[in-house]
Amino acid sequence: MLIQGGTLLPLTEKGRSFAGDVRLAGNRISEVGEHLPPQRGEAVLDARDCYVLPGFVQTHVHVVQSLARHRADGLELLDWLSQRIWPYEAALDVEDVAAAARLGIAELLTGGTTSALDMGTTHSQDAIFQAAEQLGIRFISGKCHMDDGLGAPERLCEDTGASLAEAEELGRRWHGAGGGRLRYAVAPRFVLSCTPALMKGAVALARRHGWLLHTHTSENHRETELVRQRTGTGNVTYLSELGIGGQDTVLAHCIHLDEDEYALLAEEGTGVAHCPGANLKLASGVADLPRLLAAGIRVGLGADGPPCNNRLSIFHEMALAGTLHNLRHGATAIDPWTVLELATWRGAQVLGLEQVGQLAPGWLADIVVLGHDAWAMEPGGDPAAAIVFGGGPEAVRHVIVDGQVVVRDRRLLTGDTAEIRRRARTRAQRVAAKLGWI
Ligand SMILES: [Zn+2]
Repeated sequence: MLIQGGTLLPLTEKGRSFAGDVRLAGNRISEVGEHLPPQRGEAVLDARDCYVLPGFVQTHVHVVQSLARHRADGLELLDWLSQRIWPYEAALDVEDVAAAARLGIAELLTGGTTSALDMGTTHSQDAIFQAAEQLGIRFISGKCHMDDGLGAPERLCEDTGASLAEAEELGRRWHGAGGGRLRYAVAPRFVLSCTPALMKGAVALARRHGWLLHTHTSENHRETELVRQRTGTGNVTYLSELGIGGQDTVLAHCIHLDEDEYALLAEEGTGVAHCPGANLKLASGVADLPRLLAAGIRVGLGADGPPCNNRLSIFHEMALAGTLHNLRHGATAIDPWTVLELATWRGAQVLGLEQVGQLAPGWLADIVVLGHDAWAMEPGGDPAAAIVFGGGPEAVRHVIVDGQVVVRDRRLLTGDTAEIRRRARTRAQRVAAKLGWI
């Protein structure tokens, strides 16, 4: 296939864009150039008047929470969890999980996100992987582990050994499935929900198989203080003592860090998921992105859960990442080209996805084609500024994952969108009624 006639942002070099074409062979990019004549019999995807860039990567989402969207507003993290999210997750059956995952993944793909690291819930993780397999996203996910109280419903608190054993089975089943698009991540929820035995078991399990470790850290002031009371140290330091840190670890948030924790994250090579939309919504605070980057810490972006954002749009996160830090660091805090890097190859590196996130020969063919359908992207100018500050999901015209076109002319090809919406609404109503929310 040839993607023809667009303005390319390969993101191999900061600030570089040019008119050109991209050729794919199987699931890889074979050529990137200024004028590639179509070959005989080659399919052509029209990208005239469009930007062509690597597919977006989100380093922290919870598609399973999609049915609770717009029903958990006006709360800070610990109340949001105990009053809304945990009861919601405990109320889900497998059909609810499937409907939530399909809604979330459809939103991600049609919004240009081609890869994501996701955290599931305690049960029905197979349904999340099935949705990802069918809809065609590159997806890393894992069941969420909790074995300690803090007001969580009984259905979510599991026996430590049984919970980890289930994760191992899930990982054996799904890691590498979907032609290599799907991977497993071991996902204890956060320190306050997990015994040290669970955390250590999660580390051993992940390292035994080479799977990612994924958890939440230092998101909320009260959470961080409770961890300090319990352990005597900062959250990141405590996790590191348990073995949760390093190139295979992704910590969501990292807002309330001790001074020495920046150096610790850099030293260990731990990845951080920056989620400004959710952090503002839950009044959690602002992670110091310029400082994280200056310390040499690997960072990506993520929308987090639909009930704490309330969208899974990388454009929302990019616009925030490109503006929010001006408050503390001045108007040049994070330039739009750096934001695009965070949303593509830097995010992919955090997830351990090799050769994902740039338009370069040999790299995996995960690509988005953006039209100027968002009025704010007109009348052109710097392409990164147009996308980061002016873009939105409505600009996403075509999406390719692993060489397959999954969105063409803004239409999802891998699932029936009317059915996805209908099922999500029906199931969301059912869950809300069960919980006495309506
Ligand atoms: Zn989260």
